[in-house]
Amino acid sequence: MPGPAVLDVVRSPRTLRIGSLDRDTESGFAVLDPATDAELAIVPDAGAAHAGLAADAAAAALVEWGASAPRRRSEILVEAFRLMKERELELAALISAESGKAPDDARAEVAYAAEFFRWFGEEAVRSEGRYVTAPDGRSTTVVTSQPVGVAYLVTPWNFPAAMITRKVAPALAAGCTMVVKPAAETPLTALALADLLGEAGLPPGVLTVLPTTRPGEVTDVLLAHDAVRKLSFTGSTAVGRHLLRAAAGRVVNCSMELGGNAPFVVCADADLDAAVAGAMVAKLRNAGQACTAANRFFVHSAVLDEFVERLTVPFTGRRIGPAADEGTDVGPLIDHRAVARITALVGAAVENGADEAHPPSAVPAHGSFLAPRIIRNVAADADLATEEIFGPVAPVIGWNDEAEMLRAANATEFGLAGYVFAGDTHHAVALGRALQCGMVGVNRGVVSDPAAPFGGMKQSGLGREGSHEGLAAFQETQFLSVAAG
Ligand code: NAD
Repeated sequence: MPGPAVLDVVRSPRTLRIGSLDRDTESGFAVLDPATDAELAIVPDAGAAHAGLAADAAAAALVEWGASAPRRRSEILVEAFRLMKERELELAALISAESGKAPDDARAEVAYAAEFFRWFGEEAVRSEGRYVTAPDGRSTTVVTSQPVGVAYLVTPWNFPAAMITRKVAPALAAGCTMVVKPAAETPLTALALADLLGEAGLPPGVLTVLPTTRPGEVTDVLLAHDAVRKLSFTGSTAVGRHLLRAAAGRVVNCSMELGGNAPFVVCADADLDAAVAGAMVAKLRNAGQACTAANRFFVHSAVLDEFVERLTVPFTGRRIGPAADEGTDVGPLIDHRAVARITALVGAAVENGADEAHPPSAVPAHGSFLAPRIIRNVAADADLATEEIFGPVAPVIGWNDEAEMLRAANATEFGLAGYVFAGDTHHAVALGRALQCGMVGVNRGVVSDPAAPFGGMKQSGLGREGSHEGLAAFQETQFLSVAAG
Protein backbone atom coordinates (compact mmCIF):
# COMPACT_ATOMS: atom_id res chain seq x y z
CA MET A 1 0.00 0.00 0.00
CA PRO A 2 1.25 3.50 -0.73
CA GLY A 3 2.33 5.44 2.34
CA PRO A 4 0.58 8.59 3.56
CA ALA A 5 3.27 10.78 1.97
CA VAL A 6 2.16 9.57 -1.46
CA LEU A 7 -1.56 9.86 -0.84
CA ASP A 8 -1.36 13.37 0.64
CA VAL A 9 0.21 14.81 -2.48
CA VAL A 10 -2.64 14.03 -4.84
CA ARG A 11 -5.69 15.95 -3.67
CA SER A 12 -7.85 14.48 -6.39
CA PRO A 13 -7.09 12.21 -9.34
CA ARG A 14 -9.04 14.54 -11.64
CA THR A 15 -8.33 18.04 -10.31
CA LEU A 16 -5.38 20.33 -10.88
CA ARG A 17 -4.62 23.55 -9.00
CA ILE A 18 -3.88 26.28 -11.56
CA GLY A 19 -3.49 29.80 -10.17
CA SER A 20 -6.06 30.08 -7.38
CA LEU A 21 -8.54 27.69 -9.00
CA ASP A 22 -9.05 23.94 -9.13
CA ARG A 23 -9.52 22.72 -12.70
CA ASP A 24 -10.96 19.36 -13.65
CA THR A 25 -9.18 17.00 -16.03
CA GLU A 26 -10.91 14.47 -18.27
CA SER A 27 -8.82 11.62 -16.95
CA GLY A 28 -6.07 10.60 -14.61
CA PHE A 29 -3.06 8.34 -15.03
CA ALA A 30 -1.40 5.78 -12.78
CA VAL A 31 1.99 6.26 -11.14
CA LEU A 32 3.70 2.90 -10.51
CA ASP A 33 6.26 1.67 -8.00
CA PRO A 34 9.08 0.23 -10.19
CA ALA A 35 10.04 -2.22 -7.43
CA THR A 36 6.66 -3.95 -7.42
CA ASP A 37 4.79 -2.59 -10.47
CA ALA A 38 2.02 -1.71 -7.97
CA GLU A 39 -0.07 1.40 -8.52
CA LEU A 40 0.86 4.21 -6.12
CA ALA A 41 -1.66 6.86 -7.11
CA ILE A 42 -3.80 8.22 -9.92
CA VAL A 43 -2.71 11.70 -10.96
CA PRO A 44 -4.70 14.24 -13.01
CA ASP A 45 -3.65 14.16 -16.67
CA ALA A 46 -3.21 17.71 -17.97
CA GLY A 47 -4.00 18.52 -21.60
CA ALA A 48 -3.78 21.49 -23.94
CA ALA A 49 -6.49 23.50 -22.15
CA HIS A 50 -4.69 23.20 -18.81
CA ALA A 51 -1.43 24.26 -20.43
CA GLY A 52 -3.09 27.43 -21.73
CA LEU A 53 -4.60 28.19 -18.32
CA ALA A 54 -1.28 27.60 -16.55
CA ALA A 55 0.55 29.91 -18.95
CA ASP A 56 -2.15 32.58 -18.47
CA ALA A 57 -1.84 32.25 -14.68
CA ALA A 58 1.95 32.56 -14.91
CA ALA A 59 1.66 35.59 -17.20
CA ALA A 60 -0.75 37.28 -14.75
CA ALA A 61 1.49 36.49 -11.75
CA LEU A 62 4.60 37.78 -13.54
CA VAL A 63 3.55 41.41 -13.16
CA GLU A 64 3.82 41.36 -9.39
CA TRP A 65 6.38 38.59 -8.91
CA GLY A 66 8.79 40.00 -11.49
CA ALA A 67 8.74 43.36 -9.71
CA SER A 68 8.88 41.92 -6.18
CA ALA A 69 11.75 42.76 -3.84
CA PRO A 70 14.67 40.35 -4.25
CA ARG A 71 14.73 39.99 -0.45
CA ARG A 72 11.16 38.66 -0.51
CA ARG A 73 12.04 36.09 -3.16
CA SER A 74 15.12 35.18 -1.18
CA GLU A 75 13.14 34.62 2.01
CA ILE A 76 10.63 32.34 0.29
CA LEU A 77 13.47 30.27 -1.17
CA VAL A 78 15.26 30.00 2.17
CA GLU A 79 12.00 28.96 3.83
CA ALA A 80 11.53 26.31 1.10
CA PHE A 81 15.05 25.06 1.92
CA ARG A 82 14.12 24.83 5.61
CA LEU A 83 10.89 22.96 4.85
CA MET A 84 12.71 20.49 2.59
CA LYS A 85 15.23 19.74 5.32
CA GLU A 86 12.41 19.33 7.84
CA ARG A 87 10.62 16.89 5.50
CA GLU A 88 13.71 15.12 4.24
CA LEU A 89 12.51 11.62 5.14
CA GLU A 90 9.00 12.13 3.82
CA LEU A 91 10.25 13.52 0.51
CA ALA A 92 12.89 10.79 0.21
CA ALA A 93 10.15 8.17 0.70
CA LEU A 94 8.12 9.78 -2.08
CA ILE A 95 11.11 9.83 -4.46
CA SER A 96 11.83 6.19 -3.65
CA ALA A 97 8.23 5.15 -4.12
CA GLU A 98 7.81 6.57 -7.61
CA SER A 99 11.36 6.21 -8.99
CA GLY A 100 12.60 3.14 -7.10
CA LYS A 101 15.61 5.07 -5.76
CA ALA A 102 17.48 3.34 -2.92
CA PRO A 103 16.98 4.98 0.51
CA ASP A 104 20.47 6.54 0.88
CA ASP A 105 20.37 7.85 -2.69
CA ALA A 106 16.90 9.33 -2.13
CA ARG A 107 17.96 11.12 1.06
CA ALA A 108 21.09 12.40 -0.70
CA GLU A 109 18.89 13.71 -3.49
CA VAL A 110 16.65 15.63 -1.09
CA ALA A 111 19.71 17.22 0.53
CA TYR A 112 21.15 18.14 -2.89
CA ALA A 113 17.80 19.40 -4.18
CA ALA A 114 17.24 21.56 -1.08
CA GLU A 115 20.64 23.20 -1.53
CA PHE A 116 19.40 24.82 -4.76
CA PHE A 117 16.75 26.66 -2.74
CA ARG A 118 19.41 27.82 -0.28
CA TRP A 119 22.03 28.79 -2.90
CA PHE A 120 19.58 30.71 -5.08
CA GLY A 121 17.92 32.20 -1.99
CA GLU A 122 21.33 33.73 -1.33
CA GLU A 123 21.88 34.64 -5.00
CA ALA A 124 18.50 36.38 -5.32
CA VAL A 125 19.87 39.45 -3.54
CA ARG A 126 23.25 39.41 -5.30
CA SER A 127 22.23 39.98 -8.91
CA GLU A 128 24.49 42.74 -10.19
CA GLY A 129 24.71 45.03 -13.21
CA ARG A 130 27.34 47.39 -14.69
CA TYR A 131 27.73 51.14 -14.93
CA VAL A 132 30.52 52.53 -17.08
CA THR A 133 31.28 55.64 -19.07
CA ALA A 134 31.19 54.86 -22.80
CA PRO A 135 34.65 55.03 -24.49
CA ASP A 136 33.83 58.31 -26.26
CA GLY A 137 32.65 59.92 -23.01
CA ARG A 138 29.33 60.99 -24.52
CA SER A 139 27.12 58.54 -22.65
CA THR A 140 26.92 56.22 -19.70
CA THR A 141 26.32 52.53 -20.22
CA VAL A 142 23.99 51.02 -17.64
CA VAL A 143 23.58 47.23 -17.85
CA THR A 144 20.79 45.61 -15.84
CA SER A 145 19.14 42.21 -15.62
CA GLN A 146 15.44 41.51 -15.75
CA PRO A 147 13.49 38.27 -15.35
CA VAL A 148 13.29 36.63 -18.78
CA GLY A 149 9.53 36.13 -18.40
CA VAL A 150 7.35 33.04 -18.04
CA ALA A 151 9.51 29.91 -18.06
CA TYR A 152 8.52 26.42 -19.18
CA LEU A 153 10.48 23.81 -17.23
CA VAL A 154 10.57 20.17 -18.41
CA THR A 155 12.22 17.57 -16.20
CA PRO A 156 13.14 13.85 -16.28
CA TRP A 157 12.32 11.06 -13.82
CA ASN A 158 15.82 10.15 -12.62
CA PHE A 159 16.10 12.96 -10.04
CA PRO A 160 12.44 13.80 -9.39
CA ALA A 161 13.27 16.57 -6.87
CA ALA A 162 16.71 17.91 -7.80
CA MET A 163 16.01 18.39 -11.51
CA ILE A 164 13.05 20.54 -10.49
CA THR A 165 14.72 22.65 -7.80
CA ARG A 166 17.78 23.20 -10.04
CA LYS A 167 15.46 25.08 -12.42
CA VAL A 168 12.74 26.41 -10.12
CA ALA A 169 15.11 28.00 -7.58
CA PRO A 170 17.03 30.20 -10.06
CA ALA A 171 13.83 31.01 -11.97
CA LEU A 172 12.17 32.22 -8.75
CA ALA A 173 15.30 34.11 -7.68
CA ALA A 174 15.35 35.90 -11.05
CA GLY A 175 11.68 36.89 -10.72
CA CYS A 176 10.28 34.54 -13.34
CA THR A 177 6.97 32.73 -13.09
CA MET A 178 6.71 29.22 -14.48
CA VAL A 179 4.98 26.06 -15.61
CA VAL A 180 6.68 22.79 -14.61
CA LYS A 181 6.11 19.60 -16.59
CA PRO A 182 7.56 16.65 -14.66
CA ALA A 183 8.13 13.24 -16.25
CA ALA A 184 4.97 11.11 -16.24
CA GLU A 185 6.85 8.47 -14.21
CA THR A 186 7.50 10.84 -11.28
CA PRO A 187 4.85 13.57 -10.90
CA LEU A 188 4.29 13.05 -7.15
CA THR A 189 7.53 14.66 -5.96
CA ALA A 190 6.85 17.62 -8.27
CA LEU A 191 3.38 18.09 -6.77
CA ALA A 192 4.81 17.82 -3.25
CA LEU A 193 7.41 20.51 -4.05
CA ALA A 194 4.71 22.84 -5.41
CA ASP A 195 2.76 22.44 -2.14
CA LEU A 196 5.90 23.07 -0.13
CA LEU A 197 6.64 26.27 -2.05
CA GLY A 198 3.07 27.43 -1.44
CA GLU A 199 3.60 26.88 2.27
CA ALA A 200 6.84 28.83 2.05
CA GLY A 201 4.84 31.81 0.81
CA LEU A 202 4.90 31.55 -2.99
CA PRO A 203 1.87 33.40 -4.39
CA PRO A 204 -0.67 31.47 -6.53
CA GLY A 205 0.05 31.31 -10.26
CA VAL A 206 3.82 31.79 -9.92
CA LEU A 207 4.38 28.05 -10.31
CA THR A 208 2.03 25.44 -11.74
CA VAL A 209 2.87 21.75 -12.05
CA LEU A 210 1.29 19.99 -15.03
CA PRO A 211 1.50 16.20 -14.80
CA THR A 212 0.67 14.76 -18.20
CA THR A 213 0.91 11.72 -20.41
CA ARG A 214 0.72 14.03 -23.45
CA PRO A 215 3.94 16.05 -23.27
CA GLY A 216 3.83 17.03 -26.94
CA GLU A 217 0.33 18.51 -26.69
CA VAL A 218 1.13 20.51 -23.55
CA THR A 219 4.46 21.69 -24.96
CA ASP A 220 2.91 22.90 -28.22
CA VAL A 221 0.53 25.17 -26.31
CA LEU A 222 3.19 26.52 -23.99
CA LEU A 223 5.76 27.25 -26.69
CA ALA A 224 3.08 29.04 -28.72
CA HIS A 225 1.96 31.20 -25.76
CA ASP A 226 3.04 34.84 -26.07
CA ALA A 227 4.19 35.13 -22.46
CA VAL A 228 6.49 32.08 -22.52
CA ARG A 229 10.03 33.37 -23.12
CA LYS A 230 12.15 30.55 -21.70
CA LEU A 231 12.37 26.79 -22.13
CA SER A 232 14.60 24.95 -19.70
CA PHE A 233 14.75 21.24 -20.45
CA THR A 234 16.51 18.30 -18.82
CA GLY A 235 16.24 14.94 -20.53
CA SER A 236 17.51 12.96 -23.47
CA THR A 237 19.38 14.53 -26.38
CA ALA A 238 16.74 13.21 -28.81
CA VAL A 239 13.86 15.04 -27.07
CA GLY A 240 16.07 18.10 -26.50
CA ARG A 241 16.76 18.35 -30.23
CA HIS A 242 13.04 18.11 -30.95
CA LEU A 243 12.25 20.86 -28.41
CA LEU A 244 14.97 23.15 -29.80
CA ARG A 245 13.27 22.95 -33.18
CA ALA A 246 9.86 23.62 -31.60
CA ALA A 247 11.24 26.58 -29.61
CA ALA A 248 12.73 28.11 -32.76
CA GLY A 249 9.23 29.05 -33.95
CA ARG A 250 9.00 31.93 -31.46
CA VAL A 251 12.76 32.19 -30.82
CA VAL A 252 12.25 31.11 -27.21
CA ASN A 253 15.38 31.30 -25.05
CA CYS A 254 16.57 27.69 -24.42
CA SER A 255 18.65 25.93 -21.80
CA MET A 256 19.29 22.25 -22.47
CA GLU A 257 20.65 19.65 -20.03
CA LEU A 258 20.87 16.51 -22.14
CA GLY A 259 22.36 13.04 -22.21
CA GLY A 260 25.90 11.98 -21.35
CA ASN A 261 28.47 9.27 -22.01
CA ALA A 262 31.05 9.99 -19.33
CA PRO A 263 34.57 8.61 -19.73
CA PHE A 264 36.16 7.44 -16.48
CA VAL A 265 39.93 7.44 -16.93
CA VAL A 266 42.25 5.49 -14.63
CA CYS A 267 45.99 6.07 -15.07
CA ALA A 268 48.75 3.64 -14.16
CA ASP A 269 49.77 5.69 -11.10
CA ALA A 270 46.20 6.23 -9.81
CA ASP A 271 45.32 5.56 -6.20
CA LEU A 272 43.17 2.51 -6.90
CA ASP A 273 41.25 2.76 -3.62
CA ALA A 274 40.17 6.26 -4.62
CA ALA A 275 39.42 5.12 -8.19
CA VAL A 276 37.25 2.23 -6.96
CA ALA A 277 35.42 4.48 -4.49
CA GLY A 278 34.90 7.03 -7.27
CA ALA A 279 33.71 4.32 -9.67
CA MET A 280 31.17 3.07 -7.16
CA VAL A 281 29.46 6.42 -6.86
CA ALA A 282 29.95 7.49 -10.48
CA LYS A 283 28.48 4.20 -11.72
CA LEU A 284 26.04 2.94 -9.11
CA ARG A 285 24.41 6.11 -7.77
CA ASN A 286 20.71 5.73 -8.58
CA ALA A 287 21.49 2.31 -10.14
CA GLY A 288 23.47 4.05 -12.90
CA GLN A 289 20.53 6.22 -13.94
CA ALA A 290 22.33 9.56 -13.78
CA CYS A 291 23.32 11.78 -16.69
CA THR A 292 26.74 12.08 -15.04
CA ALA A 293 27.11 8.28 -14.70
CA ALA A 294 30.45 6.85 -15.79
CA ASN A 295 29.63 5.14 -19.07
CA ARG A 296 33.07 3.97 -20.25
CA PHE A 297 35.95 2.97 -17.99
CA PHE A 298 39.29 3.63 -19.73
CA VAL A 299 41.76 1.80 -17.48
CA HIS A 300 45.52 1.70 -18.11
CA SER A 301 46.47 -1.90 -18.92
CA ALA A 302 49.13 -1.93 -16.16
CA VAL A 303 46.38 -1.68 -13.51
CA LEU A 304 43.38 -3.06 -15.40
CA ASP A 305 43.27 -6.50 -13.76
CA GLU A 306 43.76 -5.09 -10.29
CA PHE A 307 41.17 -2.35 -10.80
CA VAL A 308 38.57 -4.83 -12.06
CA GLU A 309 39.32 -7.26 -9.27
CA ARG A 310 39.02 -4.56 -6.61
CA LEU A 311 35.85 -3.09 -8.13
CA THR A 312 34.21 -6.51 -8.38
CA VAL A 313 34.05 -6.90 -4.59
CA PRO A 314 31.80 -3.89 -3.82
CA PHE A 315 29.99 -4.23 -7.17
CA THR A 316 28.79 -7.73 -6.36
CA GLY A 317 28.30 -6.91 -2.68
CA ARG A 318 25.63 -4.25 -3.23
CA ARG A 319 22.25 -5.23 -1.89
CA ILE A 320 19.70 -5.14 -4.69
CA GLY A 321 16.09 -4.70 -3.71
CA PRO A 322 13.11 -2.43 -3.28
CA ALA A 323 13.70 1.01 -1.81
CA ALA A 324 11.19 0.12 0.90
CA ASP A 325 13.93 -2.08 2.46
CA GLU A 326 16.26 0.21 4.40
CA GLY A 327 19.25 -2.04 3.59
CA THR A 328 18.88 -1.67 -0.18
CA ASP A 329 21.86 -0.14 -2.00
CA VAL A 330 20.67 -0.59 -5.59
CA GLY A 331 16.99 -0.18 -6.43
CA PRO A 332 15.13 -1.19 -9.59
CA LEU A 333 15.48 0.57 -12.92
CA ILE A 334 12.65 2.88 -13.88
CA ASP A 335 10.81 0.22 -15.94
CA HIS A 336 11.07 -3.16 -17.65
CA ARG A 337 11.93 -1.56 -20.99
CA ALA A 338 15.13 -0.18 -19.48
CA VAL A 339 16.09 -3.66 -18.23
CA ALA A 340 15.47 -5.21 -21.66
CA ARG A 341 17.38 -2.44 -23.50
CA ILE A 342 20.49 -2.70 -21.28
CA THR A 343 20.43 -6.50 -21.26
CA ALA A 344 20.46 -6.41 -25.08
CA LEU A 345 23.41 -3.96 -25.10
CA VAL A 346 25.40 -6.27 -22.80
CA GLY A 347 24.42 -9.34 -24.87
CA ALA A 348 25.61 -7.74 -28.10
CA ALA A 349 28.93 -6.68 -26.54
CA VAL A 350 29.55 -10.19 -25.19
CA GLU A 351 28.70 -11.72 -28.58
CA ASN A 352 31.35 -9.46 -30.07
CA GLY A 353 34.13 -10.61 -27.76
CA ALA A 354 33.58 -8.77 -24.46
CA ASP A 355 33.43 -10.84 -21.29
CA GLU A 356 31.71 -10.55 -17.94
CA ALA A 357 34.17 -10.01 -15.09
CA HIS A 358 31.90 -11.80 -12.62
CA PRO A 359 28.55 -13.62 -12.53
CA PRO A 360 25.72 -11.13 -11.92
CA SER A 361 24.12 -11.16 -8.46
CA ALA A 362 20.58 -12.49 -8.04
CA VAL A 363 17.75 -9.95 -8.32
CA PRO A 364 14.18 -10.00 -6.95
CA ALA A 365 11.74 -11.88 -9.21
CA HIS A 366 9.30 -8.96 -9.53
CA GLY A 367 9.98 -5.35 -10.44
CA SER A 368 12.45 -3.96 -12.98
CA PHE A 369 15.73 -5.01 -11.40
CA LEU A 370 19.13 -5.37 -13.06
CA ALA A 371 22.24 -6.53 -11.19
CA PRO A 372 25.44 -4.44 -11.39
CA ARG A 373 27.84 -5.89 -13.97
CA ILE A 374 31.42 -5.21 -15.05
CA ILE A 375 32.09 -6.05 -18.72
CA ARG A 376 35.73 -6.32 -19.83
CA ASN A 377 37.31 -6.06 -23.27
CA VAL A 378 34.56 -3.88 -24.65
CA ALA A 379 35.37 -2.45 -28.08
CA ALA A 380 35.37 1.38 -27.97
CA ASP A 381 32.87 1.39 -30.85
CA ALA A 382 30.46 -1.17 -29.33
CA ASP A 383 26.92 0.13 -28.70
CA LEU A 384 27.53 -0.55 -25.01
CA ALA A 385 30.26 2.10 -25.12
CA THR A 386 28.78 4.61 -27.56
CA GLU A 387 25.21 4.70 -26.18
CA GLU A 388 24.18 6.17 -22.84
CA ILE A 389 23.65 2.97 -20.78
CA PHE A 390 21.62 4.50 -17.94
CA GLY A 391 21.98 1.42 -15.76
CA PRO A 392 24.44 -0.35 -13.44
CA VAL A 393 26.76 -1.76 -16.13
CA ALA A 394 30.44 -0.80 -16.30
CA PRO A 395 32.17 -1.41 -19.67
CA VAL A 396 35.95 -1.54 -19.24
CA ILE A 397 38.33 -0.60 -22.05
CA GLY A 398 42.10 -1.01 -21.64
CA TRP A 399 44.64 1.57 -22.89
CA ASN A 400 48.40 2.07 -23.23
CA ASP A 401 48.77 5.17 -25.36
CA GLU A 402 47.42 8.33 -23.72
CA ALA A 403 46.78 10.26 -26.95
CA GLU A 404 44.82 7.32 -28.39
CA MET A 405 42.84 6.95 -25.16
CA LEU A 406 41.93 10.66 -25.20
CA ARG A 407 40.85 10.42 -28.83
CA ALA A 408 38.58 7.48 -27.98
CA ALA A 409 37.24 9.20 -24.84
CA ASN A 410 36.31 12.28 -26.89
CA ALA A 411 34.95 10.35 -29.87
CA THR A 412 31.32 10.82 -28.84
CA GLU A 413 28.59 13.34 -29.60
CA PHE A 414 28.16 13.75 -25.82
CA GLY A 415 30.26 15.93 -23.52
CA LEU A 416 28.61 16.15 -20.12
CA ALA A 417 30.71 14.67 -17.29
CA GLY A 418 34.10 12.95 -17.20
CA TYR A 419 36.38 11.56 -14.49
CA VAL A 420 40.15 11.26 -14.23
CA PHE A 421 42.15 9.35 -11.62
CA ALA A 422 45.92 9.85 -11.59
CA GLY A 423 48.57 10.00 -8.83
CA ASP A 424 50.17 13.10 -10.32
CA THR A 425 47.61 15.87 -9.79
CA HIS A 426 49.07 18.12 -12.50
CA HIS A 427 48.74 15.26 -14.95
CA ALA A 428 45.19 14.54 -13.77
CA VAL A 429 44.17 18.18 -14.26
CA ALA A 430 45.82 18.26 -17.72
CA LEU A 431 43.89 15.12 -18.71
CA GLY A 432 40.70 16.64 -17.33
CA ARG A 433 41.22 19.73 -19.47
CA ALA A 434 41.77 17.54 -22.52
CA LEU A 435 38.39 15.84 -22.06
CA GLN A 436 35.63 17.54 -24.04
CA CYS A 437 33.27 17.51 -21.06
CA GLY A 438 31.48 20.34 -19.27
CA MET A 439 32.35 18.86 -15.87
CA VAL A 440 35.29 16.70 -14.82
CA GLY A 441 35.81 14.96 -11.49
CA VAL A 442 39.55 14.92 -10.76
CA ASN A 443 40.34 12.06 -8.39
CA ARG A 444 36.70 12.07 -7.29
CA GLY A 445 33.53 10.47 -8.60
CA VAL A 446 31.11 13.34 -7.95
CA VAL A 447 30.78 16.57 -9.91
CA SER A 448 27.35 17.94 -8.92
CA ASP A 449 27.37 21.03 -6.71
CA PRO A 450 24.64 23.74 -6.60
CA ALA A 451 27.37 26.40 -6.34
CA ALA A 452 29.18 25.20 -9.51
CA PRO A 453 28.06 25.45 -13.15
CA PHE A 454 26.47 22.15 -14.22
CA GLY A 455 26.10 21.41 -17.92
CA GLY A 456 27.51 19.85 -21.02
CA MET A 457 29.53 20.52 -24.14
CA LYS A 458 28.66 19.26 -27.63
CA GLN A 459 25.26 17.49 -27.83
CA SER A 460 25.01 17.20 -24.04
CA GLY A 461 23.45 20.61 -23.83
CA LEU A 462 23.34 24.37 -24.00
CA GLY A 463 23.97 26.62 -21.01
CA ARG A 464 24.62 25.83 -17.36
CA GLU A 465 22.54 25.32 -14.23
CA GLY A 466 23.62 26.09 -10.67
CA SER A 467 26.06 28.82 -9.65
CA HIS A 468 25.87 32.37 -11.04
CA GLU A 469 25.33 30.99 -14.53
CA GLY A 470 22.15 29.29 -13.31
CA LEU A 471 20.62 32.62 -12.33
CA ALA A 472 21.76 34.34 -15.54
CA ALA A 473 19.93 31.64 -17.52
CA PHE A 474 16.63 33.10 -16.28
CA GLN A 475 17.59 36.73 -16.85
CA GLU A 476 17.44 39.01 -19.81
CA THR A 477 20.13 41.66 -20.17
CA GLN A 478 19.10 45.24 -20.84
CA PHE A 479 21.50 48.05 -21.61
CA LEU A 480 20.56 51.70 -21.22
CA SER A 481 22.65 54.27 -23.04
CA VAL A 482 22.25 57.44 -20.96
CA ALA A 483 23.38 60.74 -22.45
CA ALA A 484 26.19 62.36 -20.50
CA GLY A 485 25.48 65.62 -18.83
P1 NAD B 1 13.25 12.04 -21.87
O1 NAD B 1 13.96 12.93 -22.82
O2 NAD B 1 12.56 10.86 -22.40
O3 NAD B 1 12.16 12.88 -21.07
C1 NAD B 1 12.49 14.07 -20.39
C2 NAD B 1 11.25 14.93 -20.28
O4 NAD B 1 10.81 15.29 -21.59
C3 NAD B 1 10.07 14.22 -19.60
O5 NAD B 1 9.38 15.17 -18.81
C4 NAD B 1 9.22 13.81 -20.79
O6 NAD B 1 7.85 13.70 -20.47
C5 NAD B 1 9.44 15.00 -21.72
N1 NAD B 1 9.14 14.72 -23.12
C6 NAD B 1 9.28 13.58 -23.81
N2 NAD B 1 8.89 13.75 -25.09
C7 NAD B 1 8.47 15.03 -25.20
C8 NAD B 1 7.93 15.82 -26.26
N3 NAD B 1 7.73 15.32 -27.47
N4 NAD B 1 7.64 17.11 -26.00
C9 NAD B 1 7.83 17.64 -24.79
N5 NAD B 1 8.33 16.94 -23.74
C10 NAD B 1 8.65 15.65 -23.95
O7 NAD B 1 14.33 11.65 -20.75
P2 NAD B 1 14.15 10.73 -19.48
O8 NAD B 1 14.10 9.32 -19.91
O9 NAD B 1 13.04 11.24 -18.61
O10 NAD B 1 15.51 11.03 -18.70
C11 NAD B 1 16.70 10.42 -19.02
C12 NAD B 1 17.57 11.31 -19.87
O11 NAD B 1 17.74 12.57 -19.22
C13 NAD B 1 18.97 10.78 -20.06
O12 NAD B 1 19.37 10.96 -21.38
C14 NAD B 1 19.80 11.64 -19.12
O13 NAD B 1 21.16 11.74 -19.47
C15 NAD B 1 19.11 12.93 -19.21
N6 NAD B 1 19.42 13.76 -18.05
C16 NAD B 1 20.24 14.82 -18.24
C17 NAD B 1 20.60 15.60 -17.15
C18 NAD B 1 21.53 16.77 -17.32
O14 NAD B 1 21.59 17.57 -16.40
N7 NAD B 1 22.23 16.92 -18.41
C19 NAD B 1 20.10 15.29 -15.88
C20 NAD B 1 19.25 14.20 -15.74
C21 NAD B 1 18.91 13.44 -16.85
